[in-house]
Amino acid sequence: NRQILLDNRPEGEAVAGNFKLVTTDTPALKEGEVLVRHHYLSLDPYMRGRMNESKSYAQPQPLGEVMIGGTVGEVVESKHPKFKTGDQVVGMGGWQEYSVVDGNAPGMLRKVDTTHVPLSYYLGAVGMPGVTAWYGLTQIIAPKEGETVVVSAASGAVGSAYAALAKARGCRVVGIAGGPEKCAYAVDELGFDACIDYRQHPDVKTMAKALKEACPNGIDGYFENVGGYILDAVLLRTNAFARVAVCGMIAGYDGAPLPLQNPALILVNRLKIEGFIVSEHMELWPQALQELGTLVAQGKLKPRETVAQGIESAPEAFLGLLKGKNFGKQLVKLI
Ligand code: NDP
Repeated sequence: NRQILLDNRPEGEAVAGNFKLVTTDTPALKEGEVLVRHHYLSLDPYMRGRMNESKSYAQPQPLGEVMIGGTVGEVVESKHPKFKTGDQVVGMGGWQEYSVVDGNAPGMLRKVDTTHVPLSYYLGAVGMPGVTAWYGLTQIIAPKEGETVVVSAASGAVGSAYAALAKARGCRVVGIAGGPEKCAYAVDELGFDACIDYRQHPDVKTMAKALKEACPNGIDGYFENVGGYILDAVLLRTNAFARVAVCGMIAGYDGAPLPLQNPALILVNRLKIEGFIVSEHMELWPQALQELGTLVAQGKLKPRETVAQGIESAPEAFLGLLKGKNFGKQLVKLI
């Protein structure tokens, strides 16, 4: 069983040397345990926060242990009555090829149906990132039909689900993404009404101008994934009583400061700004997954995936994700 451990903590930018590849034997199963062979590992931006010493909203990842991560795979051996060999499952198996899971631990392993939804989608559109988009849109932004809603990191795992969910609610949906290819894909494939390439608009002034053109009726809802000057530019274009769901601030995950230039706009435009952590709302996941699964089955949510090959490629693929090298959901194909 090949595994990637967190070997040491980043100082500033995360680097490949923070990780270590090791090989171990999988332990014999005890009563109630299940052995899972991982087909895919999910790479997600939150993992960067876990690499730091300081507690953010989650505990730091302990040094010398297998990196945390979502996985999908199949049961290859079971000493639990609920799971049998061949079951396809989603869990938190970590950056490794196999995991031994306590079948009784609540929420640790869930069987999934791949009749209409490919297995890997349970790590993206019909998994944690999809539910994240659903929560921020429906529970915080709560748009009315005809309103304009915006999202940053638009072509990614969360952004692509957001577009499908917002279109289903009759909104004008505008994305912000890095580069012409990602923007063209957002409009042509994901159903965005417009998408702004932030690399062409590298400061508040030009970004605010582009937003004015893409959002002629102003912005009623914003789903924040990035932070920094993009947030400033969006706030300038908000309508009165707009809602901002603060989901992520990836531009600052490697330590860059993200000052807000014009906080008075919160008062002037009577904004509601609310942060959230999707794992704190497990009671809503079934409802969200149901809607996301239906959108996929209907062909209304067609997420793209970037797949790195082999566990040894996980560190580089993860560092690439933090720099926008991924196109859509970043996965690692294991075995
Ligand atoms: P993505 O698939 O969107 O990948 C990350 C993307 O972020 C990159 O592709 C890149 O897209 C963009 N990005 C990276 N660095 C920067 C930067 N400096 N400035 C602007 N954009 C940048 O990831 P996810 O969809 O999985 O996650 C999106 C966001 O949601 C993250 O911020 C993540 O932390 C957050 N999140 C929060 C959760 C919660 O519970 N609050 C749960 C899940 C995710 P581009 O090339 O377009 O810039």
